Amino acid sequence: MTYDLTLKGGHVIDPKNQIDGIMDVGIKDRKIRAVSPKIPSTESSKTISVTGYYVTPGLIDIHVHVYGGYDGWMFPDVHSFTNGVTTVVDTGGAGWKSFEEFKNTIITKSQTRVLAFLNIVGAGMLGAVEQNISEMDPIPCAETVQKYPAYIVGIKTAHFGGPGWEAVDGAIQAGELSNTPVMIDFWPRPTRSYPHLLLEHMRPDDIHTHVYAQHIPILDSNGNIADYMLEARDRGILFDLGHGAGSFWWRVAVPAIKQGFLPDTISTDLHKRSALLPNANMLTTMSKCLNMGMSLKDVLMRSTAKPAQAIHRPKLGHLDINAEADIAVLDLQKGNFGFVDSGHARLQGNQKLQCIMTIRNGQIVWDPNGLSWPNWETAGEYTTINQ
Ligand SMILES: [Zn+2]
Repeated sequence: MTYDLTLKGGHVIDPKNQIDGIMDVGIKDRKIRAVSPKIPSTESSKTISVTGYYVTPGLIDIHVHVYGGYDGWMFPDVHSFTNGVTTVVDTGGAGWKSFEEFKNTIITKSQTRVLAFLNIVGAGMLGAVEQNISEMDPIPCAETVQKYPAYIVGIKTAHFGGPGWEAVDGAIQAGELSNTPVMIDFWPRPTRSYPHLLLEHMRPDDIHTHVYAQHIPILDSNGNIADYMLEARDRGILFDLGHGAGSFWWRVAVPAIKQGFLPDTISTDLHKRSALLPNANMLTTMSKCLNMGMSLKDVLMRSTAKPAQAIHRPKLGHLDINAEADIAVLDLQKGNFGFVDSGHARLQGNQKLQCIMTIRNGQIVWDPNGLSWPNWETAGEYTTINQ
C-alpha cells in the first residue's frame, strides 16, 4: 500500500504552503506523503472520510504550563490532543536547575511534543524566587539551552516585580549566548516602561506574551494602537496572545484587532486556573479570535506556521511532504455561543471550533466520534478489533 492512512475529502488549510481547498491527505510511515485532490482508497490501508471538516497542521501552542514546581501545571496530553494541539512549549516552568527533572518526568513521558522556554531564574517558576536577582544567571541558563537543543527553544522571563531591568536583560543575555529567542511576560513599573522594553531592550524575533492584557498599554488615550506598537512590529518584535487567567481582555483585544493589530501567535498560557474560568484552551482562544473578526486562515496561520517560525522550528506547523504527520481535523460550528475574558465580561459569537480528530506522529490520538472505528454491529469480536 502507498499509504497507511488517508484523510479523505476535508478542506485542507495549510497556511505555510498556501493550500486552501478540498484535498486528501495521505500518511505513510508516520510522515505526510501526499496532499492532493484525490487519493484512491485502493492505495491506502485505511481511509477516513473527513468531508465537511477542516484539516490543518497540528496546532502549536507556544505558551503553556506543563511542568510541576509551579502548582498550576497540567500534564499535556489530555489538554493538547482534545484541542488539536500536537506541540506545546512550556514557558519557564523549569530553570537550568530543574530542566533535567522536567525532561525526565514530563517531556519524555508525553505523546505531545513538549518543548521549553527555559526560565532565566535557575530554580524556575516557583513564586518568591522569581524576584531573586541572584537566581538570574545567564551563563548556566544558556549552557543548558545549548545542551538540550532538541527540547529548549529559548528563554523566558516572567512575573518580575522589581524596579530594574535585571530579569529582562538577563534573559536577553542568555538568548544572545545561546542564539535563541526570549519570551517576555512584563509588568510595567514607573522605572521601566513598556515602550522602553519594546524599543530599547528586546531584539527582533523576541516575543512579548500577554499582548491583550489589561496591564499592557497597547492603546493610546484615544483608544488607537500606540505608535510604539507599530514601530516595535516594524523592528521585528513578535506579539503573542498568551490568554491565561488574567491576560486577555475584550476591551483591549477587540479594538486592537479591529484596527488590524493581530497577534503574531495565538497561545493559551494554559494552567489550572486559566483552563476553567476564563476557559483559555486552544480552540476556545482561537474561536475568540474568529469572533473578534479574524479570518479562519489568519487564525490558523497564527496557531501553526507562525508559532513554528517564532520558536525557530521550521520542520513544524505545515503539511510539507515528508513532514512528521501532526494533523488536526476541526469542525467550525455555527450558532449562538458566548465567550468570556479575564475581566469577567462576555462576547456573543456565532462560530466555534471543535476538534474532531488529532493525529500525532501518524497516530490517531483523539477521535471522540469514532470516525476511524467500525460500527459496533459489524465490529466482530471486540477483542480482535485491530487498531
Ligand atoms: Zn504563563
